[in-house]
Amino acid sequence: MAKIGFIGLGNMGGHMARNLIKAGHDLKAFDLFEAAVELAVSRGATAAATAKDAATDVDVVVSMLPAGKHVRSVYVEDDALLDVVAPGTLIIDSSTIDVQSARDVIAEATKRGVDMIDAPVSGGVGGAEAGTLTFMCGGTDDAFGRAKEFLDIMGQNIFHAGAAGNGQAAKICNNMLLGICMIGTSEAFNLADKLGLDAQTFFDISSTASGQNWSMTSYCPAPGPIPTSPANNDYQPGFAVDMMLKDLRLAKEAAESVSAPVPLGNDSEEIYGKLSDDGHGGLDFSGVIKMLAGEL
Ligand code: NAD
Repeated sequence: MAKIGFIGLGNMGGHMARNLIKAGHDLKAFDLFEAAVELAVSRGATAAATAKDAATDVDVVVSMLPAGKHVRSVYVEDDALLDVVAPGTLIIDSSTIDVQSARDVIAEATKRGVDMIDAPVSGGVGGAEAGTLTFMCGGTDDAFGRAKEFLDIMGQNIFHAGAAGNGQAAKICNNMLLGICMIGTSEAFNLADKLGLDAQTFFDISSTASGQNWSMTSYCPAPGPIPTSPANNDYQPGFAVDMMLKDLRLAKEAAESVSAPVPLGNDSEEIYGKLSDDGHGGLDFSGVIKMLAGEL
């Protein structure tokens, strides 16, 4: 069994850490928030006093942090973990961050003889708890090969998307497409309603016609057709507006860095930005249909 240092025990990381413990690994846990460390200890982890402590005398480091600045801070700036991590250690960063930060930090790790992959996830808190996350990974074949046994514990679908940073690229391209599709689907249902066409009838037609997409058939923004969608639960998340906005901003930044035109991605970022500015950041992202309907 491996010795693992786990850094970032929030909504996602707390569950991921618990699944590694349940699989029999020896976990040292660190978070800036003491109660999160205490919870991990109650589940069988050892408390680490600092991020450096968590990364010392371990085989693997896993991190699940909010954004690129936190990952840079932990690995190369304030905590500078890469200065204490032993060569040969494997690092898995599962935070959703900007592509450039992922590439920069992995390049620094590589210089020090440390295998590191970016491995952002989709599947939300429910997937983290159930150990059914999808991991999208970037890094060398060797690093990915070493990481796979740990990712298999925390997730169900594990993809190697190519070189360092490609996990982040896959995640933000997918979520940009999701944001665009959700707004498009919401526009269609709202227009159908205004034209006197009820949601179920439009769903029956469009879900078997060329407008069919995941936002409609698995997560319908109009109440009714899909019983499990947040539309039937007062648009409680699910996947909150602010989380979609974070990913759309990462996509926009990445698109600018390579001069890729993303006009609909940019529109989506503005629309979700307005929802957030208006105080609806905690609403499920399918709640954009309420804004279009003039109900927010
Ligand atoms: P969270 O805010 O609940 O947890 C982040 C944790 O990191 C917090 O406990 C915080 O105290 C800790 N932290 C911050 N800086 C730290 C530092 N320097 N050292 C140690 N700990 C530090 O966030 P989350 O919902 O768990 O999400 C984590 C990542 O996963 C984010 O990048 C997010 O975008 C991504 N993600 C989240 C979801 C979701 O549904 N919540 C889904 C997919 C991906």
